Amino acid sequence: MASIFRERVLTVHHWTDRQFSFTTTRDPSFRFLNGQFTMIGIEVEGKPLLRAYSMVSANYEEHLEFLSIKVPDGPLTSRLQHLDVGDAVLVNSKTVGTLILQNLLPGKTLYMLSTGTGLAPFMSVIKDPETYDHFEKIVLVHGCREISELAYDRVITDELPHNKFFGEQVKGKLIYYPTVTREAFRHQGRVTKLLDSGKLPADIGLPPLDIQRDRVMICGSPEMLKDAKELLLKRGYREGHMESPGHFVIERAFVEK
Ligand SMILES: Cc1cc2nc3c(=O)[nH]c(=O)nc-3n(C[C@H](O)[C@H](O)[C@H](O)COP(=O)(O)OP(=O)(O)OC[C@H]3O[C@@H](n4cnc5c(N)ncnc54)[C@H](O)[C@@H]3O)c2cc1C
Repeated sequence: MASIFRERVLTVHHWTDRQFSFTTTRDPSFRFLNGQFTMIGIEVEGKPLLRAYSMVSANYEEHLEFLSIKVPDGPLTSRLQHLDVGDAVLVNSKTVGTLILQNLLPGKTLYMLSTGTGLAPFMSVIKDPETYDHFEKIVLVHGCREISELAYDRVITDELPHNKFFGEQVKGKLIYYPTVTREAFRHQGRVTKLLDSGKLPADIGLPPLDIQRDRVMICGSPEMLKDAKELLLKRGYREGHMESPGHFVIERAFVEK
């Protein structure tokens, strides 16, 4: 049966006025697969107020880490954005989610397409040594409006390649492709357009998307999910889930209310 852990905030980092991340203690019995999410939140008037959140931290790390939006009038995040070190955060023990390696058919290249906080589950996937055993190339695509919203860019480009356990695999296999829509930057435009047109693979020296070779994980806004799914279905891709692995898997980064 699911239970709710009461964790303590260890660190808080504000990326922008729309996004922040925080780490918490982790109950030793809390288990998950990299790429999954759980329900987290705080107590409001004596009752738990919980929302779905992906784990940014990998399942072997001692602490938990989350990347969060700040919705000004959002029931949870209007409060959560004021978290401080030492505050309590509730974490549900039940973890779920489709963005896991076992839901994908074998392939050579893994594309991870994200927008905004949709990056979160892929942070744990790229910290998983198994990901590098399964694929020859791992392409992490993160689309945002502005450069400042490209959370964890330094972790991806500077820290992970120096990880003492799997840094060499990161150096040889991980390709990071950040793109923004509202500022001049080395990559510009919407994730799905860049992939559909073949510009994205060409920019990183890979052939256009191919069902024999390429597998895809997607996490982003409802609009991005719709466009990404469409472009994959028209190439014959089949969606994977827990019961049967497929060529691609999808998770919502949030629900439009
Ligand atoms: C499977 C799943 C995983 C999720 N993982 C994360 C995560 O790792 N990090 C995270 O910040 N949120 C995540 N969310 C969204 C999260 O559950 C909440 O919606 C969010 O924390 C806002 O909560 P709220 O109560 O403040 O506002 P809500 O009432 O939940 O949302 C209000 C409105 O804010 C917008 N919104 C909500 N979340 C986001 C977002 N992440 N990005 C852009 N706009 C948003 C939507 O328009 C929504 O209608 C996830 C949602 C799902 C379904």
